[in-house]
Amino acid sequence: MSVTERFWKHVVISYDGCWNWDHPNPWNGYGYFCVAGRKKKRSHRLAYEWYVEAIPNGQEICHTCDNPGCVNPLHLFPDTHQGNMSDSQMKGRMNFKRSYRGMAGTSPITPKEVREIRSLCALGLSYRTISSQFKIHQSMVGYIHLRKRWAHIK
Ligand SMILES: [Zn+2]
Repeated sequence: MSVTERFWKHVVISYDGCWNWDHPNPWNGYGYFCVAGRKKKRSHRLAYEWYVEAIPNGQEICHTCDNPGCVNPLHLFPDTHQGNMSDSQMKGRMNFKRSYRGMAGTSPITPKEVREIRSLCALGLSYRTISSQFKIHQSMVGYIHLRKRWAHIK
């Protein structure tokens, strides 16, 4: 079993969009996962590193959902301690409702999301789960997975 397969076995996808760690630490609510050896890492930081981008030195990874056990890459953002965007503005931006994006006439799906969708498909998550997560139609998830759409994105 690969590391990511082992990782996703701990995750319970909840109806509110959070991907909850099955046994979060009772003291701080964070999930912990052992990548190699005995060193445990916070699960949400791993999810961010794997599915979004490398975490700059020492940066905290925050939750738009205020749920420390959540490892949904879309609920995670780095706390930069700088820039003009406040925490609440960031949350507003990331939680906006998107209805069936990527259908005729619209293409607001980002290349980064296309890559995330592909990696989630590769992990065996259902099209239904992924479509509700990204607010796109199930058939679009399939098209992206099978590279009938966004094929130019590597
Ligand atoms: Zn969440």
